[in-house]
This record gives sequence, structure tokens and C-alpha cells, in this order.
Amino acid sequence: MNYQKLVNYINNQLFLYDNPVILHRPVFSGNEKEYLSECIDSNFVSSVGQKVIDFENQISEFTGVKKSIATVNGTAALHMALQLVGVTPDTEVITQPLSFVATCNAISYCNAVPVFVDVDKDTMGLSPEKLETFLKLNVELTSDGSINKVTGKKISACVPMHTFGHSCRIDEIVEICNAYKIPVVEDAAESLGSYYKGKHTGTFGTIGVFSFNGNKIITTGGGGMLVTNDTDLAARAKHLTTTGKKPHPYEYFHEEIAYNYRLPNLNAALGCAQMEQLQGFLKEKRTLAEKYRHFFEKTDITFVLEPENAVSNYWLNAVILADRKERDAFLKETNDNGVMTRPIWTLMNKLPMFQHCQAGDLSNAEWLEDRVVNIPSSVPTPKPE
Ligand SMILES: *Cc1c(COP(=O)(O)O)cnc(C)c1O
Repeated sequence: MNYQKLVNYINNQLFLYDNPVILHRPVFSGNEKEYLSECIDSNFVSSVGQKVIDFENQISEFTGVKKSIATVNGTAALHMALQLVGVTPDTEVITQPLSFVATCNAISYCNAVPVFVDVDKDTMGLSPEKLETFLKLNVELTSDGSINKVTGKKISACVPMHTFGHSCRIDEIVEICNAYKIPVVEDAAESLGSYYKGKHTGTFGTIGVFSFNGNKIITTGGGGMLVTNDTDLAARAKHLTTTGKKPHPYEYFHEEIAYNYRLPNLNAALGCAQMEQLQGFLKEKRTLAEKYRHFFEKTDITFVLEPENAVSNYWLNAVILADRKERDAFLKETNDNGVMTRPIWTLMNKLPMFQHCQAGDLSNAEWLEDRVVNIPSSVPTPKPE
């Protein structure tokens, strides 16, 4: 394909007016400034304040969970979620090799080790079939949970991820993990506004985690959220992310080594304003994805569509090139012509920190790594004056 056609299409048809056209920029066209001013005027700018409570409630209501706990970023939320479901040092956590590095970093912060299981090609998320095969082959179910026969270590959690906002087959994954007594933490950092079989992503496992980094579908500058239907776990999460302080009007008594991972009120103010716009963003993103679908239909490039049974937020659009050579040519031509495109992540099992980790057959992840490229996906806005 002549990639210049794509460059022209993006530059002239999609109302993405950045120059160069970037992958994803935030849109602040709601009550952001007003809510920030409220925080400043009230002096509540830090880790306590009404905006934090409001933002948590908005996320609970939107995703349909009982409790949400805001954190400084998504990585911190993942770290806490893993600790809360019982990931202890010297245990193992099953995850997919195709993810942003934060997933494996959070596992490492618990002094646990990632174990890599392949993804499905259509969802780009953890494959239930490959997971079941891996567990059957490697794991012995004991009264203490699932023990990896190869390493002798306990498998203390499983972390599937909803890649670019496309849901993985999360119901099957949870069912398999339940049978093996492995708690599921969903890395839903990219999938706010994405559903599987009518249920919001992040709400299938014991805990789900969202990110509100600057490039995500809504942003708080930096921020994250744990969501859960387990009210005891939620209380523990709040405790652990707020220095473990025993509630008291004035005394400082801390019950355990805990964290200062609370989201500042200023950031939560942005979150409240962004949540008011989320439905609009989702609609615009679906329209943009629809335009891309039409465009790529007439080419030999595959545009990634939402998987069966899923409604995706289309956070980051992606295409699949014929092979690595085509991928590299596509990346060069687009980036040289003012259209930012980026390859999917280098597989985690190829990074120096994780290359020693146990891995199953990763052929789908390797296939995708060679071919998937993200293309500009911002919410289109009116042309600036
Ligand atoms: C963005 C992201 C995170 C981490 O979020 P931060 O808020 O940047 O810490 C974790 N996992 C995935 C898959 C992400 O895309």
C-alpha cells in the first residue's frame, strides 16, 4: 500500500489537528478549570478532599462496582492490588508478555516473579486456552493453592490485561483461575469504558485497576484506581494506600508498613471533570474507529476491531501489517511525514529484568509483536482558530 494515502487521510479527514499528529492527546473541554479552582480556593489540594471522594464514587457508579479507591497512578494501584490479593515474596504471578512494563514492575515490587502465558491473536489479551494448558502441564493444586511443579513456587495471582481497550476473554480466565484457587487482578488501565458480555472490564476479577495517565482515555495528570466488590478488601486498600494510619481525631498511630499512594485532590478534580465527558469521548472514539475501518477496508492492512462479545472503548487504534518488514516501512513512512505511529511493546520476556522468567508457548504474542502498530487516536476536536 502507498502509505502517503494514509498520511493524507489522517491529516485532512480526521480532525486531529496536532502537528505532528500525535498518538493520543488529552481533551479538557469541561469543568476542569472550575473544579481545580474549587480545590485551590478551599486549600484542599492534597491527599484528602471532596473531589477524591466524588471521583471514586463516579468510577464506582460508571463501572458498577461497590468500591473504588483512588491512587497516585495505575502502577501503584496494581502494586496494592497484588499485595491485597496475597502476592507475597518468592511467589509467582501469571501474566501476558504483551503489555506495558507497569504490569511486570508491580509484580516485581511485591518481590514476586512473572510467569508468561500467551495471548489470543484477536483480543491481544491473555488466552484462556493457553492458560489452561499451562496450568494443566505445570501446576499441582494443593491445600495451599496452586504450586508450580517446575519451580516449587506458589502461583499467587493472575493478571490479564485488556490491550488498547479491547477486552480479553475475562469470564473464562476467571473461571479457570477459580478452579486453581488463583486470584485474578485485572489490569484494566487501558479499558475504562470497555465491556465484555455487558459487564465493565475490571469488574470480573477480585480487583481491577485503572490508570488516568496523560495518554489514557480520561486523565487526572497522573492517577489510578482500584475497583472491587469486596468491601473488606476495599477498606484494606484505603488503609494500605494512606500510610496505614489508625483512624483517630489527632493521634498518629500506624499499624503496619504502608504507602503514601493516595491521589491528590487536585488530580481528582480533573478526574471529576473528565468523567462528565467520558460518554462523549467514547462516542467520538467509536466514530473515529469506524472511519479507520472504512479506510483500511480498501487496503491490505488489517484494522483491529473489537473482539466478539466485547464493546471496546477504542482507546488506542491499532493496525496489523503483513510482517516485520512491512511494519518497519509503515513506521518510517508515517513518522517521517508528521503522523506519529508506534509499534506495540517489546515482549516483557525479552527485557533484561524478565528474560529469565518461565514462559509457555508465546507464538501469538510474537506474531503480534512483529506486526501491530498504533495509529493516532485522539478524540477529534474543532479546528483551532
Ligand atoms: C498505563 C498503564 C499502566 C500504568 O499506569 P500508570 O498510571 O502510568 O502508572 C499499567 N498497565 C497498563 C497496561 C497500562 O497501559
